[in-house]
Amino acid sequence: MVELGTAQNTMAMLQKHNFTAQKKFGQNFLIDPRVLERIVSAAEIGEEDCVLEIGPGLGTMTQYLAERAGRVIAVEIDKNLIPILEENLSPYGNVTLINADILKLDIAKLAEEENGGRPFKVVANLPYYITTPIIMGLFESRVPLKSITVMVQKEVADRMQVGPGTKDYGALSLAVQYYAKPEIVANVPPNCFIPRPNVDSAVIRLTRYEEPPVQVEDERRMFALIRAAFNQRRKTLVNALNNAPGLGISKEQAKAALEKIGLPPTIRGEALTLEQFARLSREL
Ligand code: SAM
Repeated sequence: MVELGTAQNTMAMLQKHNFTAQKKFGQNFLIDPRVLERIVSAAEIGEEDCVLEIGPGLGTMTQYLAERAGRVIAVEIDKNLIPILEENLSPYGNVTLINADILKLDIAKLAEEENGGRPFKVVANLPYYITTPIIMGLFESRVPLKSITVMVQKEVADRMQVGPGTKDYGALSLAVQYYAKPEIVANVPPNCFIPRPNVDSAVIRLTRYEEPPVQVEDERRMFALIRAAFNQRRKTLVNALNNAPGLGISKEQAKAALEKIGLPPTIRGEALTLEQFARLSREL
């Protein structure tokens, strides 16, 4: 097996193929075996699992995954990486490579065709420029999933994990926490990658809930309220909801709904929990 996850071997691989990392694809290759071990152990991969890897790059983490999983489906956008991946992954019979943009791929169909509709475990060192659309796309399109274990920008991991009362709390926190239980499992400095990113990174595991932790009749309505609340997070919730185009909520309606759930009319959206947003959406 070619152990790519060291600085020396990664440099040699890049030189051998005369390959330069592409900024436009968010290419930062992992070069620390301890971090790679940590990601695959946090993802709890076993023989029974079919792993979807987004952005395999040179195939570094794919090798770790292929050693443990029953199957790995790796989706890479950069066609110039495909021959390198084919070479590095040739010892593994359980890896399927797909050259595609993950944001344009019908992943639910892929799960149906490649895994008999059974849930994937998603594992990735994500391209940071599209972290949120990838994660929200996986949740919202109802792709069958057990968990998503991913390297993201540290600040984004913090936003996914926090609750009310912190500056990082926002629409992303609530959206992620509606679908999954988030846990940051490692902090990763820039020197674990070639080239080094300009930001700190973290590995976060999102364990999908079978049932959402709160009951709402209309998810879209609740998320519209949440977006309105955080679009104007320095305003009171009453004003933010009243100002939001398309919601059609008067100040009186907003105040009455808040009173019904026992919250003061001066409260800001950033102080509400997911449960409180769910109750508010039932009232409005
Ligand atoms: N997994 C490798 C590693 O850990 O060394 C590479 C990680 S690098 C941060 C992100 C990878 O995602 C790159 O290989 C990049 O080409 C790929 N990528 C970027 N945008 C993508 C997209 N829309 N769909 C699929 N892959 C993408």
